[in-house]
Amino acid sequence: MVNSRDTALLREDVEANVHIWLRLCEAEGLQVLITQTVRDDAYQAYLYAQGRTKPGQIVTNSRRTTFHGAGLAVDFCKNVKGQEYSDAAFFDRVIEIAKEVGFSSGADWKSFPEKCHIQWDYHGQYSGSMITAGRLPPLMPIYERSSADMITMEDVKSMSEETTLALWNKIQNVLGEQEQTGKVGEELREAVEMGITDGSRPKAACTRAQAAVMVKRAVKGE
Ligand SMILES: [Zn+2]
Repeated sequence: MVNSRDTALLREDVEANVHIWLRLCEAEGLQVLITQTVRDDAYQAYLYAQGRTKPGQIVTNSRRTTFHGAGLAVDFCKNVKGQEYSDAAFFDRVIEIAKEVGFSSGADWKSFPEKCHIQWDYHGQYSGSMITAGRLPPLMPIYERSSADMITMEDVKSMSEETTLALWNKIQNVLGEQEQTGKVGEELREAVEMGITDGSRPKAACTRAQAAVMVKRAVKGE
């Protein structure tokens, strides 16, 4: 009987994303404990019997192991004694992050919701019966949160003016190297011909104050 909480038994792409999910949760102070990774048909039959032919509450609607059997799912709880399944805000956020990473949540199941279960089913395109029939979802892309999301408004607000300017300059230097295309690019060439600008650093930004002064000078013929 296979009944494991070892993430190394998961399919490799799923394992990598489970660890990314765990790290993102940890960064927000959410302590997740993996309670199940892989289980086989024998253990699934044991779970299925619970609340049916054996005492206890019904915990599953599936006789055969599906996503857990294929190493595509994990079960989890809050890693705080006495609060394992009771903290609704914890589950809301942890599930939200899991979905961001690419997992589907058992909390969304209509017939038998399982808030403590996430799986890789290619965004709902693979069902349990497909998995038991040996039809497995494609590789799960390794999740990368965009850097812009890594830096929050609060992070920026807490920077010194010096640091903010240094960061701004870095962004401007990168943008400045990019070519201006399209209609704006055409008008920029026209502006260069008119001697308004030398056309350098075309995509670097100017401030609203600088733009207003430029327009004012042009209007007054300064
Ligand atoms: Zn599960």
